[in-house]
Amino acid sequence: MTKRTLLRGGTVITAQTVGEVLPDTDVLIGEDGTIEAVGPALDAEAEVLDVSGRVVLPGFVDTHRHTWQSVVRNVASDWSLTEYLAGLHTGLSKYFRPEDTYAGNYLGALEALDAGITTLVDWSHNLATPAHADAAIAALKDTGMRAVFAHGGGSRQWGAPLPSPHDHPAEDARRIRDQYFSDNTGLVTMALALRGPQFTTPEVNAHDFELARELDLRVTVHVGDGYWGKSGPIRKLRDDGFLSDRTTYVHCCTLGDDELQMIADSGGTASCAPDVEMQMGHGFPATGRLLKAGVRPTFSIDVCSSNGGDMFGTMRTAIGMQRALDNAPSVDTGEVLERIDLSCGDVLQFATLDGAHAAGLDHVTGSIAVGKAADLVVLDDRSLAMTPLNNPLGAVVYNAHPGLVRDVFVQGNRVKKDGVLVGVDYDRLRSTAVASRDYIVGEMPEAHLDGSWHPDLATQQ
Ligand SMILES: [Zn+2]
Repeated sequence: MTKRTLLRGGTVITAQTVGEVLPDTDVLIGEDGTIEAVGPALDAEAEVLDVSGRVVLPGFVDTHRHTWQSVVRNVASDWSLTEYLAGLHTGLSKYFRPEDTYAGNYLGALEALDAGITTLVDWSHNLATPAHADAAIAALKDTGMRAVFAHGGGSRQWGAPLPSPHDHPAEDARRIRDQYFSDNTGLVTMALALRGPQFTTPEVNAHDFELARELDLRVTVHVGDGYWGKSGPIRKLRDDGFLSDRTTYVHCCTLGDDELQMIADSGGTASCAPDVEMQMGHGFPATGRLLKAGVRPTFSIDVCSSNGGDMFGTMRTAIGMQRALDNAPSVDTGEVLERIDLSCGDVLQFATLDGAHAAGLDHVTGSIAVGKAADLVVLDDRSLAMTPLNNPLGAVVYNAHPGLVRDVFVQGNRVKKDGVLVGVDYDRLRSTAVASRDYIVGEMPEAHLDGSWHPDLATQQ
């Protein structure tokens, strides 16, 4: 049980509707960690936190991150997709011990939380043994954040041959569902991270989607990434009867317009990872095309082995990319474009409430409204870059950064206080991450993480 807390006098971005900003507004957090009231000058017996002059917004939702990779951060920052697959997926990944999975997940999840991401879909696809899965789940639980553990198998499923003839590891998925997520309603819940039609035989794909039905779990699946994504994965899922409003389609860059429409018609959701999509040749981020088809995009960090792990940078990449695409026709024709469609309010919505919807949690989190969990972020007001605060939506999307995340609440618990994560032993966190990094690299002598290493594609198995 937490005490009641009153955030007094903030500039509140609610994300209840696109672009809604309430000036000089209080948010009352009840004892059960939900939002009890939102309004001006609330009268309540509560611990008061003066947030006047500060922006209060819902915690961000990252709808797809391979969190285990945090300990090999930036090894892939200059890599192509081919190098990434060789260096990480058939390279470094196989040396992860369960304690390294724990270290990666704990570091990566706390990095997200520190940056105001209160809900993380952990796309966990390096689970060599049940002990690796146990470690990944334990790390998420230890952070105190809201997370979806998306169980994704390991190198047997993701390695050669492709398309894979190996089923998703059903036995361990059943065990985990039973052991940790029997009611699947806590701060950490479970989903299945499936390979889908691009990476499996039709029989295996059917097995995997049937397993999700059997376990009554949501699904997240990569589709429409690069040339492979043009193979009609959504059409195949439709033909087999597997399109569902409980599935999130990650990337979607090279799906046909007809396939985006199929996602919309089925009520499915989508996750765009703009930094990775542009680096690794997945195609242009589908933000605008999804919107046109009637699917609200959401955002994901994807691989923290390559790009940064915060939502501010991701929003900036996404809005810049989409605005360039939207402006391009008028640059070619000379016609004047009077207004750009995509707003900062839209982009903030994708990063919050729409993300919560894609995680199956929009009834719980993603916006500031009475009855929702108090998953909140308070930004510092001492930044010159946000002074004066004229347009809060523009300021958050274009000027804010993780260093301005002053306070974070998850289910009413203040997990970051005045710029410092509460209850985190920073020295220990750093030393375990470094020890894991050193162990993994020590097992693979050709691997260097300083940017000088480009995996030898010919010799990599
Ligand atoms: Zn991914």
